[in-house]
Formats: sequence, structure tokens, C-alpha cells
Amino acid sequence: MQLPQKHSNTGTSIFAVMSGLATQHNAINLSQGFPDFNIDDRLAAALSEAAMKGYNQYAPMPGLPMFRNAICADLKTRYGVSVDPDTELTITPGATYGIFTAFTAILVPGDEVIVLEPAYDSYVPNIETNGARAVVVPLMAPGFGVDWDRVKATVSPRTKAIIVNTPHNPTGAVWSMDDWNQLAAIVRDTDIFILSDEVYEQLIFDGGRHYSVLQHDELRARSFALYSFGKVFNNTGWKMGYCVAPPAFTQAFRRIHQFLCFSVNTPAQYALTQHLADKLQPIHEVMQAKRDLFLSLLSDTPFTIHQPARGSYFQVASYERISDLPDKEFAIWLTENYGVATIPLSAFYSNGHDDKLIRFCFAKKEETLTEAAARLRQVR
Ligand code: PMP
Ligand code: GLN
Repeated sequence: MQLPQKHSNTGTSIFAVMSGLATQHNAINLSQGFPDFNIDDRLAAALSEAAMKGYNQYAPMPGLPMFRNAICADLKTRYGVSVDPDTELTITPGATYGIFTAFTAILVPGDEVIVLEPAYDSYVPNIETNGARAVVVPLMAPGFGVDWDRVKATVSPRTKAIIVNTPHNPTGAVWSMDDWNQLAAIVRDTDIFILSDEVYEQLIFDGGRHYSVLQHDELRARSFALYSFGKVFNNTGWKMGYCVAPPAFTQAFRRIHQFLCFSVNTPAQYALTQHLADKLQPIHEVMQAKRDLFLSLLSDTPFTIHQPARGSYFQVASYERISDLPDKEFAIWLTENYGVATIPLSAFYSNGHDDKLIRFCFAKKEETLTEAAARLRQVR
């Protein structure tokens, strides 16, 4: 029997590969992006309270009304934007699902989608699974800013969408309002959709700020904005997120969602509703302390930092002073010989482009980062 090849990425996701290798070699896992510290006790308590109180059956298809209301209030506070919880917001089982569902809602075979690489590894397979083609524009090392002239030159009559991500995985780059304005100028007078992946929205350092596509009225009218609680409340394993889009887009999104997942984990929706009302230390303060610690620890290792991460929970480093190996081989070598697992940046390029860079996740306990640095200091 023939099984169709729905997309071109035939391997196993690098995140599964490197986390698996870390376990196998008992290495410190700075590869896949997830915190190694526990969630806030109040969030854990709210989850068990939900189960005890009977929040155990299907939620409404778009999400629990109280949860959608709480998120809209939060978006109003943080971005000053009004989002209608009934017609513009849908709860999703994580942002990866939201991205796939948004693509499925808009793409037909023959469409093109512009992807800025390096990029999160689900985008291109999602595009291809929908019969469309990814057209790649490289970001510019070392700062990984966008070459807007090149984006403009890549737009064709077949361009159906552009997917963007800020703060950026894996590079930690953060867009300014000027970036959004440049994008707006390119898509003005076209029917191009924007998918705005903002999962690291709250992980911004050095007093910087995140500009959401929701704050750009012109772009918001053509955008699906995707969010994830995993990065905000340190619970990546809950796989909870949401999609904000104009009413007609939200209808199209829900037409797919209702037959793909139908509705999302009810007790988690209850728990997150409660937690949105809790007083929390801003996550960027927690994560900035970790980034700063990690940067200072790395300074006496043979790794080179070309650009400190301005957002996300990832730091890119060069191993130019250590080895000439291709980046994936280097990451495997480092895991096997020094017990620190990372992600090679070539995994974020559909053509496997290799600048000999690796990505560290610093969303870890202080002792984890300290022990990792002690091992990295030994590397020859
Ligand atoms: N987008 C980016 C850029 C990511 O790094 C991730 C992974 N955390 C996601 C989307 C997916 O988030 P989720 O775990 O909610 O599916
Ligand atoms: N977003 C996480 C990362 O970049 C991993 C998500 C996944 O494993 N798919 O490491």
C-alpha cells in the first residue's frame, strides 16, 4: 500500500531527536524549549480544583466563555486592544495547532506562503500538507533582521500568506514597529494574509517591548494572531493557546477547528482563567535573570555570542573556536562527549543551511545553567 508523502520533511523533529539523545546520554537538556522548573502552585491547585468542581466535560467549541473573556481583558490591559471574545477569539490546544488550523483555513493547492528562515520547524510542513508551497526568505545574520526589499521581491500573484514570528525562535530577535510598517507597506493593496506567531510575546528583555500585530490596525484586519500559554505560565506540556482573528477569519478558522479538535481541555481552561487573575511576577523579569546569568556563564567558555537574545528563551551561539563540524554533528558530539544537548540552527532551515550555530534554551533552573556552563567550559 502506498502512503502519500504529505510534506517534504521526512525526518523526526529535531526537538524529539535532541531531547531523546539528552535522555540517552544523561545530558543536561538545553535543546527543546521548555522550563525545567515547576509551574506556580496556584496554577497546579486551580487545575485540581477544576477537576473536583466538575469541569470535566466538553467545553464549548470556541472555548469556555469565562476563559475567552479573561483573555480579552488581559489583551486589553497589555496591548490596549479590544477583542470580541465571541467573534474574534478561539481557544486552541497550543499554538502549533493554531498555526496549522489557520493555514488550513486559507490555503488551497498552488498557493505560496512566504516564510522567513530560520523558522520554527512546523511552518513549512504545515504549508505543504495543505498543498501549498513555502517560499523562503533568509533573515540576515548576525542580528537576524528582515531584508524587506527581498520580501517585497518575493511576493508573487500566488502569495497567499506571510508567516512572521516575533520575538523570534530560534534567534531571539524582536521586531520594532518599523518592521510591522514595512510589512504593511508590502501587503497593502493585496489579498495576502498574515499569520503572526507571538508565542514569546511576554519574553522580552532589556526594557524592550513586544508590538503585537493586534496593535497595528491595518495589519490586524488581515491577520491570524497565535498565542500559547506554555511560554507565559511555564506549562508547555499543557498545550494551551488561542487564535485572535477578525470575525470572518475566525469563522473560517472554527470551520476547521470544529472538525479537527472540536473543543479544548476544559479543566485547563478553568485553571488558566483563575491564574490570569492571580498576581504574578512578570515572566520577562524571571527570564531576563536567566538570560543574564547564562550569558555571563558562557563568557568563559569557548563559545561565541554574536548577539544577546532580546526576547524568547533561546540564545544562539557560534562554535567557530571549537570545531568545523556541521552543526547537527557538532550538537550530537557535544551531547555525547560533554553532556549538554542543544539544537543545531540548520534544523530551522528547509534547505539545511548551516552557519555553524547552535541554540541553547536558558529557561532553566540556576543550578542547571551553572552545571551546563561547567561542562561547556571543558569543551576543547
Ligand atoms: N511557535 C514557536 C515559534 C514556537 O517556538 C513554538 C514552540 N513552543 C510554538 C509556536 C508552539 O507552541 P505550542 O507548544 O503552544 O504548540
Ligand atoms: N518550541 C519548542 C522549541 O523550539 C519546541 C516545541 C516542539 O517540541 N515542537 O524548542
